Amino acid sequence: MAAKSDIRTHKRWAKWHHWPALFCVLLTAACAPPLRTERYFPPPPHDDKPPRPTRSCADWRGYLPDTAHPEHLPMRHLRVNFHVMNSADSSHNFQPDEGRAYLLRLLACCNEALDTNIRNWRSPQGTPVLPRRYRYVLSPQPGDDGIYFHYDDSLYYFISQGANQNNYSRKVIDKYAVGKDSILNIFLMVHPDDSIKSSTYRAGGQGIALGTALKVAGIFETKEPPENFDGLVNHEVGHILSLSHAWVEDGCPDTDPHPNKCWVWGPDPPCNEQATNNMMDYNAYQIALTPCQIGRVHAVMANEKSAVRKCLLPTWCERNPTRDVVIRDSTVWEGARDLEGHLTIAPGGSLKIHCRLSMPAGTRITVQPGGRLWLDGARMHNACNREWEGIFVQSKGDLKGEVRILKQPVLDNCPAPTFKEKRR
Ligand SMILES: [Zn+2]
Repeated sequence: MAAKSDIRTHKRWAKWHHWPALFCVLLTAACAPPLRTERYFPPPPHDDKPPRPTRSCADWRGYLPDTAHPEHLPMRHLRVNFHVMNSADSSHNFQPDEGRAYLLRLLACCNEALDTNIRNWRSPQGTPVLPRRYRYVLSPQPGDDGIYFHYDDSLYYFISQGANQNNYSRKVIDKYAVGKDSILNIFLMVHPDDSIKSSTYRAGGQGIALGTALKVAGIFETKEPPENFDGLVNHEVGHILSLSHAWVEDGCPDTDPHPNKCWVWGPDPPCNEQATNNMMDYNAYQIALTPCQIGRVHAVMANEKSAVRKCLLPTWCERNPTRDVVIRDSTVWEGARDLEGHLTIAPGGSLKIHCRLSMPAGTRITVQPGGRLWLDGARMHNACNREWEGIFVQSKGDLKGEVRILKQPVLDNCPAPTFKEKRR
């Protein structure tokens, strides 16, 4: 009997033995409230707040790369192709094999220069040196490599002075450009033989930007290596990207008007004082770009109406999982942004959005508990007209993500609230 009773007691004990574990599980669940995620919809507009004067979304100051968070201003990729213009007898420009090798090296040199930035010699002391955040990418069509060779006696040459001046002519572009609305077409032309022989004609590296195409000359004739011409190409593309010459009044407070007479720096006056290294001056270096110049380039690239924007690789349509952005401190985006991944405002982080924000298809903005999103008249959409998910606010116990409206925002390309969401 005793043995039977012991067994029964043991069984009973075994049953009770699991209770502390169960209690712990219940206790833990009670101590850690669940994470709740709800989609956020801005309240209907109301007129009780007068619109505050705000900076224009086209202002270059809204597009300065943040060196601590370069990913906040995604890298831009400008599509380019090349056209080597030659005479019908093929004697006036590169042969295809040599030309392809030369142009691929030139493109690499241009991108190396864009990846580099140094202090603009004529900027005020303390002016920051920012990354440029744009590059070129060769853009072939099906069946080609994006480098074209044309043999045309009436269109292979470039004349910048005199009676037969044709540098402003768009004829060669109209006839040979490939995808000119979406690719920056670069034409490699040559100075004509008789111009080169003239003592008054400048037959060196020259170029001209015409819309989203550019014509350059002097590269083949001078027989200099590609390393000597990245400045020329980057300067001309700079014009396409809305930049003026830096030696004139160009609207940038960090460039300084000057006579533009010094090709290189020298120890003697005036070039000990007046030499410059700005990409938008004429000099042997053309390597420096100021914050204002960089901001202007990004402002035009973000402008949905600009022709240049159509020449960018549209990296913002779909999500790139390596490009998610997490905001962990106080951040203000005064210019437009085309993000390439999810946007999360982490606990303790705050983000104020003032202009257009494009979110890739299928992505969302998440405001985590303790994170804060300020919407100051922002327009959030997908710039490729695809659907993104919208804004989601998370809460955990008393800690909530917050969305604060300073000026009524607009949400496009995301699903309308469901019946259940409307009732919340
Ligand atoms: Zn120029």
